[in-house]
Amino acid sequence: MKELVVISGKGGTGKTSLMAAFATLAENEVLCDADVDAADLHLLMNPEIKERHDFQGGGTAVIQSDRCTACGLCRDLCRWNAISESFKVDPIECEGCGVCVDFCPEEAIDFPIKTCGEWFISNTRFGPMVHARLGIAEENSGKLVTLVRQEAKKLAEKNKLDLMITDGPPGVGCPVIASVGGASAVLIVAEPTVSGLHDMSRVAQLAAHFKVPGMVCVNKFDLNPDQTEAIENLAKENHITVVGRIPFDPVFTESMVKGQTVLEYVGNSKIRSSISEIWLNVKYQMGL
Ligand code: SF4
Ligand code: SF4
Repeated sequence: MKELVVISGKGGTGKTSLMAAFATLAENEVLCDADVDAADLHLLMNPEIKERHDFQGGGTAVIQSDRCTACGLCRDLCRWNAISESFKVDPIECEGCGVCVDFCPEEAIDFPIKTCGEWFISNTRFGPMVHARLGIAEENSGKLVTLVRQEAKKLAEKNKLDLMITDGPPGVGCPVIASVGGASAVLIVAEPTVSGLHDMSRVAQLAAHFKVPGMVCVNKFDLNPDQTEAIENLAKENHITVVGRIPFDPVFTESMVKGQTVLEYVGNSKIRSSISEIWLNVKYQMGL
């Protein structure tokens, strides 16, 4: 089973629309929405939920003063300076890493588990899909990304599906790191702007760090052909394969409003041929 993760340096590049278009073209695939902080693949896939599960994550540390001997070890170990001189944990500063809990010699720190969101297994018109919803203002999205990818892999194995297409989170933070490790390939969707070039470079470095083969395509390339060329040149210098360009077209937004993938919405058009060409190149690069 191979996994393609579609990522971008920031939100709003057309990453989810492109991933959904691939779902239209692929066969024998499981879909995974790992963009758990801003999940919107379900708007295009209209999933029929078959299973619903709670996502439980570690909360914040709580020091029990009756057991605490004020040795200070937890304050020394906390990288986020979340523990006060009077050994109280600031719940806003606490990142929930659990280090103080593990090392407290008196076992004086509790770490209550709480429900931070939900994850789902659903059927869609393109095959099964694993997706999630993180509670409002909840953290731990990296853990939830790992969980949905693991569950999608299990589903692919159970159903003997040989491809997993994952809508990854944007950026280069913890959630995207959790979505890239162990993938067969990543496709970076870039926009032809100065910041798009910078974003692409950061995501490309991340993929290289995890030794995951990278590909790039430029969406709305015709809005700035010079920046498109700069992105493609930078990609080539970094051994990232350029798999194609997509012209600007409002059909991306129109199809989203209709709840359809862009390839379900358009007839024969430049959009269809450019996305189909990118998909063929991606398949070739992944040996599909
Ligand atoms: S490590 Fe444990 S015993 Fe030491 S100060 Fe922190 S909570 Fe108290
Ligand atoms: S769980 Fe981590 S972040 Fe929170 S107080 Fe303990 S060491 Fe600091």
